[in-house]
Amino acid sequence: MKHYHYIIAGAGCAGLSLAVHMADCARLHGKKVLVIDKDAKAEEHRTWCFWETAPGLFEKNVHRRWEKVWFHGVNGASSLLDIRPYTYKMIRAADFYRHARSVIRRRSNFTFRQLNIENIWSDKDRAFVQTGNETIAADYIFSSISISPPEKQKGRHYLVQHFRSWKVQADEDVFDPDAATLMDFRAMQHQGAAFIYTLPLSAREAIVEYTMCSESPGPQETYEKGLKEHMTKHFPGTAFNIMEETGGIIPMTNHRFPSHEGRIVFIGAAGGQTKPTTGYTFRFIQQHSRRLTDQLAGSGHPYLGRRAGWRRFHFYDGILLRMLSERSPQGAALFSGMFTRNPAPRIFRFFDNVSSIREEILLTLSLRRLGFIRAAWKELWQRIRG
Ligand SMILES: Cc1cc2nc3c(=O)[nH]c(=O)nc-3n(C[C@H](O)[C@H](O)[C@H](O)COP(=O)(O)OP(=O)(O)OC[C@H]3O[C@@H](n4cnc5c(N)ncnc54)[C@H](O)[C@@H]3O)c2cc1C
Repeated sequence: MKHYHYIIAGAGCAGLSLAVHMADCARLHGKKVLVIDKDAKAEEHRTWCFWETAPGLFEKNVHRRWEKVWFHGVNGASSLLDIRPYTYKMIRAADFYRHARSVIRRRSNFTFRQLNIENIWSDKDRAFVQTGNETIAADYIFSSISISPPEKQKGRHYLVQHFRSWKVQADEDVFDPDAATLMDFRAMQHQGAAFIYTLPLSAREAIVEYTMCSESPGPQETYEKGLKEHMTKHFPGTAFNIMEETGGIIPMTNHRFPSHEGRIVFIGAAGGQTKPTTGYTFRFIQQHSRRLTDQLAGSGHPYLGRRAGWRRFHFYDGILLRMLSERSPQGAALFSGMFTRNPAPRIFRFFDNVSSIREEILLTLSLRRLGFIRAAWKELWQRIRG
């Protein structure tokens, strides 16, 4: 049976991020690493956006960046937010995959194989993957694959952020390439909180996305109707060509994901790296990859302790998910209150789980207080009972 020091099961965002972080760490260069994915990913229109204050490991893959973002609230209030010291960045998944795979190819201690993993398990000394009739062993497996979906836990919230996006080209200059639109709640509120998200690529090209947060995805026509309505209302008289279409679903949940099971360490969305209330995952994946790599290099094992304040942020996530799940005006009003009454860097720190208690109090005071207090009380009561 073949044996590696580490197997990375799933070479998507998390698997490849971990691989590049490992490749970047001199103390791990003697470790044999096998990276497995079932797909070649030849065609990929997905993009990942995130905010950060300093260049990351994938800086050279950043395709577009913005230092200003628009927010359009439910009450008609619009603001152009200066987000410095943060920059809002966009990476195209295709560029990311190309770069990460070339890093792996250049390192003799890495092997990539395109295989479908059927099972993953672990005993006291080793972990294993089953692919067809082959079993491969490793000291540790880092998995972003959900072999079977996790069972729902009592008292947790399970929403989804679902969206459809168009890459459009206009017949005249209509977009401001210097400012992305983070949330535009003037969008049709059909099912759950819905907003439009716009990433301008130039004065004529943009990625425009209709996003909803609710218990389940909506019918296809809803997204198209939302997108069409937005384009006609806000760009009257402009003709658009749809160059590319893509869509997706991101789970928004405060499910307690286990960090590991024996020698299998969970990474990426399957490892709970998605921020429940926003769906942003990319930056959390990078931080997790860095911590895992440092831990392996420093101690030889990949087991991490919980981050400071995680209990507090898990509680906030529960409250906000409850507010989002209750009814759409509340969800839309929640974000509107937050963005119109707080500086953007404070909100970014809150959603990055690094804000101070003082900042959290200020943020809380800016929300619909009654709704927040009611949701906080219900959340607390549920925890006491559970
Ligand atoms: C369309 C879309 C847009 C998003 N945009 C953003 C964004 O802008 N910003 C942000 O922060 N987050 C975003 N997210 C959320 C998150 O960043 C992504 O979902 C991200 O891809 C999660 O990384 P992952 O490695 O956990 O999962 P994936 O990237 O999906 O990787 C899992 C990998 O496992 C492989 N795999 C699965 N099953 C098997 C198997 N049985 N055998 C072998 N291989 C297998 C898959 O082929 C895949 O490559 C977005 C999500 C979606 C769906």
